Amino acid sequence: VEKKNAIIIDPTTVIEDFTGKTCEEQIEICGRLCYKSEHKITQGSALDFVKKMIKDRHNAVMEMATMTFFLDDPDYFLDLEHWEILIMKYLVIDDYKDGLLITGSIRGFREVFFQLSDDSLIKIIALQIWKKSPVLFCDYHERMKYIERESDVNDEIVVKMFSDFELEELRREVPWLYFRHKFVPVRFIVNRAVTHELVRHRPCSFLQESQRYCRYANDQFGNRVTFIKPIFYEEGTEEYELWENSILQAEKTYLKLLKTSSPQASRTVLPNSCKTEIIIYCSLEQWAHMFHLRTSPAAEPSMQQVMTPLYEEFVSRFSGVEEMLKQRIPEGITD
Ligand SMILES: Cc1cc2nc3c(=O)[nH]c(=O)nc-3n(C[C@H](O)[C@H](O)[C@H](O)COP(=O)(O)OP(=O)(O)OC[C@H]3O[C@@H](n4cnc5c(N)ncnc54)[C@H](O)[C@@H]3O)c2cc1C
Repeated sequence: VEKKNAIIIDPTTVIEDFTGKTCEEQIEICGRLCYKSEHKITQGSALDFVKKMIKDRHNAVMEMATMTFFLDDPDYFLDLEHWEILIMKYLVIDDYKDGLLITGSIRGFREVFFQLSDDSLIKIIALQIWKKSPVLFCDYHERMKYIERESDVNDEIVVKMFSDFELEELRREVPWLYFRHKFVPVRFIVNRAVTHELVRHRPCSFLQESQRYCRYANDQFGNRVTFIKPIFYEEGTEEYELWENSILQAEKTYLKLLKTSSPQASRTVLPNSCKTEIIIYCSLEQWAHMFHLRTSPAAEPSMQQVMTPLYEEFVSRFSGVEEMLKQRIPEGITD
């Protein structure tokens, strides 16, 4: 019998382009990665997708779009209690001009609003998000209508939504603020060992292809499991052949188990070499931290293999903050 070849690809990364996309479109693009249902994206499908995510409480998907606001009052937080400020731990807040710059994901703003729904600033931010994209607070329409009616009470608070253009202006004007408030999405197509390490970076947002939902026996996947070429073994060597035989056996068992059991049960035999996709969305500041750890010679070689070229791409793409991308968060080593 002729030996069947495994489907083996090289790892890659792509910086996603969200230019001109609405928050709900960004959320749909990233969210559908979990189910590998990107082919279902049509004009207007984002609204139903977001509604479903909110209903299913798949709240992490709501982290895949951020908004930035300018508050014309540098002292706003002085009147808050410490516990109230702590609730805002997922927002990025900095002094800017004579006020404050506040960036957060839709999830971040939604959950702060649920916990501090009487805070005037948070109410106004939620109202502005809702007015721009009602679906992002579709579970709170009545409350938003109520706030809209009372919003004249808050006339003294001036909150302005930053446009993409204004955020880009910051890059020239105050690069370190751009570094902290600019969020960049990157899609990785790598093996499951690499994503297991990536998801340890706690301040970032992640969405990953789900082996519970994706059934690789379906036509959409060519009825096959795809694997990532290991950096460790040269094609043609005995080690490579051992590795390939092993993944082929795992694939065979997986496809056989799928005939009688679910993807979540069958996946228990899939190896680390399995191809997976993940989107990481975080600020340039967090990317710098990851590059620092993950391009170092101490990092796992398959991680360095994708992170080093990605780092170089960031340095050339985000001119103005190159020096900051090279720096590291102070962590106690002087060399
Ligand atoms: C060379 C190398 C070897 C590794 N080996 C292992 C291993 O054998 N086993 C293992 O389990 N992991 C291992 N890891 C993963 C490592 O433990 C971290 O989980 C991962 O690198 C995430 O980085 P981080 O903790 O610096 O920060 P992130 O999670 O990326 O957070 C960014 C920054 O936020 C701050 N921060 C975030 N959360 C907290 C918190 N809860 N408290 C205080 N500060 C916080 C810190 O300043 C941190 O630097 C390894 C990582 C590397 C680079």
